[in-house]
Amino acid sequence: MISVNEARRILSDNCERGEKQTISLKNSLNLIVAEDIFSPIDVPSFNNSAMDGYTMKFDENQHQWQVDTMIQAGDTSVHKIAEGKAARIFTGAKMPEGADTVIPQELVEFDSESREITYKDEKIKTGSNVRLRGSQCQKGELILIKGTQITPGVIGLLASVGLAEVKVFTAPSVTYIITGNELKETGTDLQEGEIYNSNGPMLEALLNNIGITDVTAQKAGDDKEELQQAIDAALEQQDVLILSGGISVGDYDFVKECLETAGVKELFYKIKQRPGKPFYAGKKAGKWIFALPGNPSSGLSCFNHYVKPCLRHIMGADDVWQPNRILALTNDHKKKSGFTFFVKAKTTGDKVEVLGAQQSFNLQAFSTANCFVELEEELDVVKAGTMVKVWDL
Ligand code: AMP
Ligand code: MG
Repeated sequence: MISVNEARRILSDNCERGEKQTISLKNSLNLIVAEDIFSPIDVPSFNNSAMDGYTMKFDENQHQWQVDTMIQAGDTSVHKIAEGKAARIFTGAKMPEGADTVIPQELVEFDSESREITYKDEKIKTGSNVRLRGSQCQKGELILIKGTQITPGVIGLLASVGLAEVKVFTAPSVTYIITGNELKETGTDLQEGEIYNSNGPMLEALLNNIGITDVTAQKAGDDKEELQQAIDAALEQQDVLILSGGISVGDYDFVKECLETAGVKELFYKIKQRPGKPFYAGKKAGKWIFALPGNPSSGLSCFNHYVKPCLRHIMGADDVWQPNRILALTNDHKKKSGFTFFVKAKTTGDKVEVLGAQQSFNLQAFSTANCFVELEEELDVVKAGTMVKVWDL
């Protein structure tokens, strides 16, 4: 049995960066940008109004203007404002030639007979409420650096400069195999002795969360032949294979044996940790194989602390083996020494609270948990105030 840090070292030593590919923006969410991106255009590409109102060449001594044109957003014709005149203008519409300022409509009185506006306030200065060309970014400017994870806001940014595609680190394809005779899918009734398959939907979400969407779900009963077939088929097709359950020491736990038969090289099996002692990692011809313990909390913890960092490194992320934060515990916690504990926890401000319901079958704490706290091997009583490693979920 190896320590948590040895497991991390073995995984990181065996992890290489994956390939890069250019993909459409709409499929890029959560992936990592593989090269610096420079804007191909000025944004905005023309001076435009930031408000619905009136535009003119502003003169603080003038309080009345004749309104002689109207400019809508998207109007591409050239408008020119005569000296001393104004134009009705709307948010996003191109500024006419000869105008430099927009007065919001709330600040003027409009006389529909004379078509004159009167403005008496003193808030407006020359240049007010005009978005200048290039004020977001200029053509050729660096707008996004390599290594950035793509969020919805990043997708908006790239679309705003006209990009439809982005170069990212390729997400691997994944098959996961759920093992266990006792498992039923949601939407069906349980017979006595059966439980719902919670690991399947959870794994799917965990993978999607890090940008992996090419995911194939498989199921196998606790039957050696059936499992062997499923493992062999998955290794033919996908880049990564994840198994759930059947990796412990029970008479029907066939995963390890079937992986050996399939020619998978074991990197390690069993870590000095709770939960999730019987976690397995292996490789075959560049493909990764992870076997998660069946207990849902154990599986989630092992995914979060080993599988996720590995996959994220392959997909271009840096510092994946570092905790997200170091925070002070709000409450005392007792543990067994000799094992690293990963406990379900919740951050509150700059502190972190260990939650109840820590059993490995029990998922209730995830109704509020947003992280795991890592409590090192040698600790037994951990006092409130102790600084601990926090791993975001
Ligand atoms: P195993 O690792 O196969 O011995 O399973 C350990 C425990 O986790 C058992 O109580 C299983 O019933 C439970 N379990 C295994 N797979 C799942 C799953 N997909 N969803 C929910 N519970 C599971
Ligand atoms: Mg099982």
